[in-house]
Amino acid sequence: MTRPPFEAPAESDIAEVSRQLGRPARDVVGIAARCVCGAPTVVSTRPRLADGTPFPTFYYLTHPAATAAVSTLEAEGRMPALAALLEGDVASAYRAAHEQYLADRAHYGDVPEIDGISAGGMPDRVKCLHALVGHALAAGPGVNPIGDLALAESSWSPDVCQCAAAPADEAVETPDAPAVIPVETPDAPAVMLVEPVETPDAPAVMLVEPVETPTPSGAAP
Ligand SMILES: [Zn+2]
Repeated sequence: MTRPPFEAPAESDIAEVSRQLGRPARDVVGIAARCVCGAPTVVSTRPRLADGTPFPTFYYLTHPAATAAVSTLEAEGRMPALAALLEGDVASAYRAAHEQYLADRAHYGDVPEIDGISAGGMPDRVKCLHALVGHALAAGPGVNPIGDLALAESSWSPDVCQCAAAPADEAVETPDAPAVIPVETPDAPAVMLVEPVETPDAPAVMLVEPVETPTPSGAAP
């Protein structure tokens, strides 16, 4: 786990992340979490991409086995149960995690378009477990309660290397797509997050968050 300021990512790290994503990794400012083998699992991305696009998802889960395991949790319908935990101390901790997320991201510049918008549904909803697990891995246990729980429930662990078991080259099929499409309406401060999902014997499919606007455009940083 690592939080800002980061060491500049090594070329070998960028190469591995690009392999995981199946396309060149862009605007990566640091490696926020790693597998026990040293491979990146979470990258931190500049909140304004080089092409000017605002990018709120500062902690992005890149590891194919991890994203697949978290996709399984989402597909199993775990998000409502996790959201139901957002009361009392858990809700307070989740809001604090949101604030820490924003503070971490602010090390790399203020981007007015995404002011106050973090990721994953924080501070009061659960909308993308990939973003929340990414934050939990970066921040370490005890910061993001929903991310911690989702990670614990998933079949993936940063302590067990599954790098070789997760061929990543099939994970993403839109190498030239734009990065994100931010949505700025007050009632829907969500952004389009695109997470690769691996299936055993079919090309990867793209899940687009939020699910109520399933436009299959966009890709990760
Ligand atoms: Zn590994």
